[in-house]
Amino acid sequence: MNWIDLRSDTVTLPTENMRTAMGRAQLGDDVYGEDPTVNRLQALAAERLGKEAALFVPSGTMGNLAAVLAHCGRGDEVIMGNLAHTYLYEAGGISALGGVHPFTIPNQADGTLIISDIQRAVRADDPHFPRSKLLILENTHNRCGGVSLSRHYMLEAAQVARENSLAIHLDGARIFNAAVDQGVPASALVDMVDSVTFCLSKGLCAPVGSVLCGSRGFIEEAHRIRKQLGGGMRQAGVLAAAGIVALEEMVDRLVEDHQHAAQLAEGLRSVEGVSLDKGSPNTNMVYIEIDSSMNTSAQDCAAKLKNEGVLVGITGPRHFRLVCHYWIKDEHLPQVVQAFKNALSGG
Ligand SMILES: *Cc1c(COP(=O)(O)O)cnc(C)c1O
Repeated sequence: MNWIDLRSDTVTLPTENMRTAMGRAQLGDDVYGEDPTVNRLQALAAERLGKEAALFVPSGTMGNLAAVLAHCGRGDEVIMGNLAHTYLYEAGGISALGGVHPFTIPNQADGTLIISDIQRAVRADDPHFPRSKLLILENTHNRCGGVSLSRHYMLEAAQVARENSLAIHLDGARIFNAAVDQGVPASALVDMVDSVTFCLSKGLCAPVGSVLCGSRGFIEEAHRIRKQLGGGMRQAGVLAAAGIVALEEMVDRLVEDHQHAAQLAEGLRSVEGVSLDKGSPNTNMVYIEIDSSMNTSAQDCAAKLKNEGVLVGITGPRHFRLVCHYWIKDEHLPQVVQAFKNALSGG
């Protein structure tokens, strides 16, 4: 079956151009720094994000972890949102592997942290306390519905971080969705942060990989940590080749995914028993709830949708996430809406 797979943009398969580029990629041993394709990807990523240097890593999780380990030592503290991906979905790696302590403050519905909450979270210099070292922000914010944070907000957060001698890391897994959403270059959303991770393997369709960007000195440190974490890859140019295509061909078209999310949300509005989350859709994500009057659960409804060829992400007892991406085409949208109508009418 050809699934209409809305579970995540991580399900994207590489494009034909990526497969061609992967097949033709010039390769070398990247642990020796000799893979020309990895080197090209890293230079391109650094240039696109306006940073001095970049490091290709196997996953966004490793990118964020290497960044935290480069910024912090054991017993140091990271301030981040209680809905941050790094807090919720990275297996506690910063604590397990780095001895780094998380201090969480509430994420607001728009993905931001309240500036005065950040200020209050900073510890006094006192031997009772861990040392506050790093602030992590996320853009777009996944658990907050895919919402994008503005340059204006990022500058405010950066200022409070500077005033308190905190470094800032941005989990920019979907930074290009944020940039396209706001009609600005990605570099305009990251010039105020010390480091940023972004994913090649989500909406940008590459099969594997993320990139960590920052100053030359920071990336040298992260490079050593990547090796410690087992993330030194050899002829990784086969993967980086797809990443280059991702950056060159797949960024501007993200706007189509955002349009599709808006159209899908509009269609679902007309389905009895479906409510959009407040503020949804944002960028490429639609979050919906099945009304309690409907005698069904998310599991039950998802199983019916699956019979119609539609896969959705279950995010709560009656709650779904639908993510638009390159492989979701115009003609799929009415099919998804119809599948929901059928699933909820008992049909
Ligand atoms: C996907 C994602 C990551 C990294 O995920 P990996 O699966 O490890 O590549 C990090 N942060 C956010 C917000 C994400 O959505």
